[in-house]
Amino acid sequence: MKANCWMGRNTVQVEEVPEPRILNARDAIVRVTSTAICGSDLHLYDGYIPTMERGDILGHEFMGEVVEVGPGVSNLAVGDRVVVPFPIACGACNSCELGLYSVCENSNPNAGMAEKIMGHSPAGIFGYSHMLGGYPGGQAEYARVPFADVGPVKIEDDLPDEQVLLLSDVLPTGYMGAEMCDIRPGDTVAVWGAGPVGQFAAVSARLLGAERVIVIDRVPARLRMAREKAGAETVDYEETDVLDALREMTAGRGPDACVEAVGMEAHHPTPALHAYDRVKHATRLESDRPHALREAVMACRSGGTVSVIGVYGGFVDKFPMGAVMNRSLTIRAGQCHVQRYTAPLLERIRAGELDPSFVITHRMGLDEAPAAFEMFKNKEQDCVKVVLTP
Ligand SMILES: [Zn+2]
Ligand SMILES: [Zn+2]
Repeated sequence: MKANCWMGRNTVQVEEVPEPRILNARDAIVRVTSTAICGSDLHLYDGYIPTMERGDILGHEFMGEVVEVGPGVSNLAVGDRVVVPFPIACGACNSCELGLYSVCENSNPNAGMAEKIMGHSPAGIFGYSHMLGGYPGGQAEYARVPFADVGPVKIEDDLPDEQVLLLSDVLPTGYMGAEMCDIRPGDTVAVWGAGPVGQFAAVSARLLGAERVIVIDRVPARLRMAREKAGAETVDYEETDVLDALREMTAGRGPDACVEAVGMEAHHPTPALHAYDRVKHATRLESDRPHALREAVMACRSGGTVSVIGVYGGFVDKFPMGAVMNRSLTIRAGQCHVQRYTAPLLERIRAGELDPSFVITHRMGLDEAPAAFEMFKNKEQDCVKVVLTP
């Protein structure tokens, strides 16, 4: 079969690889009908997530048709249409029982690698490095789905792929980012990053009752999307000092909650500060460039919440802990516990309250994955989200 493989820094190639097979009783094999490229795939592409190997199949956002199930999977049958959550979760460990699926204790066979960097291991993730399980991803014609009796969501009506595919990651991730803000009526929520996750965080903040949502980015088309689809006010950080702007927009107090939907490759409008982090990042003296995170902490009103859903891989420098401690800030973070959100969000899609397909700007064949990665990385053609069809 064909699969999009990581071949080294800034190189992906569509290769001919063996088809996946059932390895465990609770596996299913899915014929992929749609798969998306995620902003967090760019951290792999750029070589910032360690433990990638040449030939690894990328992709953690996919859906398709079940073509084979192991003997331990009784809730799915051949022919079912499913969306697959990106964290692999057993459904039975202590974390899973608490609904903390992205920190499942049983799904990362390489837990020891992750423990060295993070203390304990999070769940395995499709197509997301050996440190997170070494699972082949879904940017392929077929994928093996472990614990298929727990994660995959059956789509039993005729909703098109584009309306449900993003339940695999970016829609629930944005939603969880907003939910972690514990929004109360009248709140102002600021969102750093107007990529797909930031767009969904902004939309979700509104659904959860925020009175004002302010989105911060530098790409005009993305800021426009946030204004049009999430009813957000926007700040272009290349034109305006973000901290000044937010202070002015909130009568000096700062937003009640700040969602960080940027992650480890943030840009900084002040070249010297960006250079500082770039150099430390590139020389591996710091593993992440935490500019948006620092800014979210500094901007947040005293006693407010900073919700971190942007992806970080390791360690950050110059983290303003003094602001966190002295101003009673709460920091919440996590890879999304997707399995917790798929049913209620699917319900909202069915009811017409949400149509996540608005972020999809490009549709391409799986063969075009290398061009799609370049376009997405460089934000060419106003690219926000690419869906690939095998
Ligand atoms: Zn993703
Ligand atoms: Zn588990």
